[in-house]
Amino acid sequence: MKQKQKQKGSPLKTVVFLTLIIFAILSVLLVVNSMKSDSNKNKTTFEKQPPIDGQPVLGDVNAPVTVVEFGDFKCPACKAWGESIYPQLINDYVNTGNVKFAYINVLFHGEQSKLGSLAAESVYKQSPESYWSFHKELFKAQPSDDHHALWITNDKIVEIASAFPDIDLQQLQEDITNQTELEELNKDTKLVEEYNVQLTPTIMVNGIMLEDPFDYEKIKSLIENELEGK
Ligand code: CA
Repeated sequence: MKQKQKQKGSPLKTVVFLTLIIFAILSVLLVVNSMKSDSNKNKTTFEKQPPIDGQPVLGDVNAPVTVVEFGDFKCPACKAWGESIYPQLINDYVNTGNVKFAYINVLFHGEQSKLGSLAAESVYKQSPESYWSFHKELFKAQPSDDHHALWITNDKIVEIASAFPDIDLQQLQEDITNQTELEELNKDTKLVEEYNVQLTPTIMVNGIMLEDPFDYEKIKSLIENELEGK
């Protein structure tokens, strides 16, 4: 009798057990598969692109594709990216109204990154039309022989900013001293963490993060794909 009961119960148990096993295998396969597809394509896809409200944006705000740079004024690769890839991107896609370009500060190089970003955010707040030129001039001032050198200083910022008639130097100085735009820096740092940015520059096309920001052909193909799918 005992034996019979046991036999009765076991098929159901087996079914439950098998279902669990199959479910577990499927879950593992799904995870492995998604990891594979990402690494094969040298990119990581996020569910949503970084929000760019309050960030400096270049180009048509209604452009269908958004390219975001996570950059650091102290980083030599960001300077190089700005000189080699950025002009092509602006010429090919931003000026044609297909792409809007946004910049988010990364503070991987300590106090100088912070000072440069505070200054840039202050310039953006008081004179958005001066922002991108100031941004470019700040990168230009980065010494190409020794980026570790102390070069983002108060004096350097004043020197660069004084070439812009629309920048109120006194306001800029006050903003730096009082860290008026610290909130903006914190907002940027939160995005850096949320999107797990490890290197600068990190480039994202809509929600897709490139492994190699210097692969312009890849950037182009991602933009074209997004344009086709719009
Ligand atoms: Ca910002």
